[in-house]
Amino acid sequence: MSAFTFSFSFGANTNNSADSHASQTQKNDSYQSVSLQQQKPQQKASIFQNDNQDLNEEDEYANLQNNNQKNQKVRTGYANVTKSSEQIGRNTSNMAVKQHKKHQVVDAYFSSKIEELEKTEKEKEMQKMFDNEQVVSRVLQSLSSSKEQEQQMIENYSIKCKEYDNLVHMMNQAKKKVKVCYACNRMFASAEHLRRHEKESQMHKDNEEKLKIAQNILLL
Ligand SMILES: [Zn+2]
Repeated sequence: MSAFTFSFSFGANTNNSADSHASQTQKNDSYQSVSLQQQKPQQKASIFQNDNQDLNEEDEYANLQNNNQKNQKVRTGYANVTKSSEQIGRNTSNMAVKQHKKHQVVDAYFSSKIEELEKTEKEKEMQKMFDNEQVVSRVLQSLSSSKEQEQQMIENYSIKCKEYDNLVHMMNQAKKKVKVCYACNRMFASAEHLRRHEKESQMHKDNEEKLKIAQNILLL
């Protein structure tokens, strides 16, 4: 009983599945054929034409030869380019050599000029040194001409120094006495003079007013 039921059930299952599968494939086939015919008839034709071309051995051989010729042309083109680049390189190196030769001439010219300038500068310096030595020797000669003259020179110098000191002292004293009006930017010989100026001068009063206004503006 158990074996029969199993076979029956199995058979029933297979039958059912086979029917369903068949119906599905039929539906799918019909759908696919329609869709292919509708969508891509031209593409299919072109693919077939290509296949025919590839299959033709003579054409294939011709294609190969063509490709070889193309490759050869490319190779010769590269060779020409490399040759021309080598030529350019040679030309540039030649130009560089020529320029270097020209530069050598220019460098030689300028180096000689520089040497000349250095020489003249050295000569000038030597001349200056010589002049200074001459001046010193003249001074020494004048000093050592006679002891009396030397004494006189020293006395004159000391007198002049004293006069200068006196002048400086007087100037300092005068500066201490001098009074300044800062409103008018003027100096006065004494305090009395300044007081009179502040009392009587109209210009001073005007200047003081201007100063006050300026101070107020700055304070604001
Ligand atoms: Zn004043």
